[in-house]
Amino acid sequence: MKRASLHTLGCRLNQAETTVLAARLQRDGYRMVEFGEPTDLLVLNTCSVTEEAERTCRYVIRKTLKHSPDAFIAVTGCYAQTGVQELRTIPGIDLIVGNQFKWDLPSFLPAPQALRKQPDPEILHTRAVSREDFTLPEYGEPDSTRALIKIQDGCNVMCSFCLIPFARGHERSRLRDDVLREAEALVANGYKEIVLTGVNIGQYSQGGIDLISLIEQLEGIEGLLRIRISSIEPTTITNALLELMASSAKLCPYLHVPLQSGDANILSAMNRPYHVGEYVRLIQKAVAAIPHLGLGTDLMVGFPGETEEAFEHTLAIARELPFSYFHVFTYSPRPGTAAMKLLDPTPIAVARQRAKKLAELSRLKRLAFAERYIGSTMSVLFESGSTDGFRFGTTANFLKVGVPSTTDLTNHLKMVRIIGASDSWAVGQLAAEHQPARRVPVL
Ligand code: SF4
Repeated sequence: MKRASLHTLGCRLNQAETTVLAARLQRDGYRMVEFGEPTDLLVLNTCSVTEEAERTCRYVIRKTLKHSPDAFIAVTGCYAQTGVQELRTIPGIDLIVGNQFKWDLPSFLPAPQALRKQPDPEILHTRAVSREDFTLPEYGEPDSTRALIKIQDGCNVMCSFCLIPFARGHERSRLRDDVLREAEALVANGYKEIVLTGVNIGQYSQGGIDLISLIEQLEGIEGLLRIRISSIEPTTITNALLELMASSAKLCPYLHVPLQSGDANILSAMNRPYHVGEYVRLIQKAVAAIPHLGLGTDLMVGFPGETEEAFEHTLAIARELPFSYFHVFTYSPRPGTAAMKLLDPTPIAVARQRAKKLAELSRLKRLAFAERYIGSTMSVLFESGSTDGFRFGTTANFLKVGVPSTTDLTNHLKMVRIIGASDSWAVGQLAAEHQPARRVPVL
């Protein structure tokens, strides 16, 4: 039986998509092996959001060919969409499949027995991603106790630094019944938490169903205990969504809302569709409405024209708003984006200094968030495995908790008393045996 391994670069959406491709390859007769082990086929689902992602992509291909020189290498995803010319120069690639045809990738592979390296890569690619249909061919097997479900793809916003509208095309939403069927199948397989993913999930709209009605219908699935929404754009967070999050027994009190910059001029040059004040008011409203909200954001440093004063504005907002963490990105110019034409680049050393400052602040925020719960008892959904005698899981508001235990707690929801905190996780002790109630408490 031929072996196949898959590797994902980039976002949660890519991760969700990789599980679907893995399910299809298994059905086609491949034996799945861990990425990094010798293999006959590597499917690489790439990202092109940063230059680093591109470098990683090149590195992964080289590394695989080192231990498996005859491996058939198939590359798909955003780099395959936007960097096809660069990819075709990397030795060892046999198949390049743009995002338009990602789901069809397995059918472009030779039969497993006929799999062999090609003198030149076959390329299936269109410049525009114009596909309208959105039915996933099948569902994947998640590799975490939090199962990712893709509900939306593409983006119409056109932020000036972002390649995603080119890489994934315009907004489209997955059929409601398709989403519900996948969620039901996951719950039937024992999953208790699903994470709704997409590029701009607040824009979910399918046959009169918006994100809120979709969540309400998912709430009706017996045995599903947690619904989490992944990153969501500030302009798409409505009062109704905040109310639902505040009152729902299943929708996790967790928001990851990209800010990118706290400076009005930079935000405008980024073509982000909101003002700093609107963002601040939204977050204040969310925090006031939703008890124990876990709150994350994305911040970008080094955008062209980011003066010291502009960076100070970002730093001030990052400090003042009650984030539990942030992800920090350093701007890198992407060919084809509007920001490429902007003058006044920020020197890379300055951008790195700024990223370091924000990363340090994020560390302190994580610590403060964990410390806030010392003495509380919280419901934790455990992941598989253990590290140094600790089992790890997450609370509904996305606090990572480690508990010393020799018992396998995988996929169990347990009440845990928080007794300590660090800047990456909280230490807990299992409380008295907990039977998950139909309505799961936030804490
Ligand atoms: S909202 Fe902006 S940053 Fe996010 S995917 Fe769309 S264009 Fe890119």
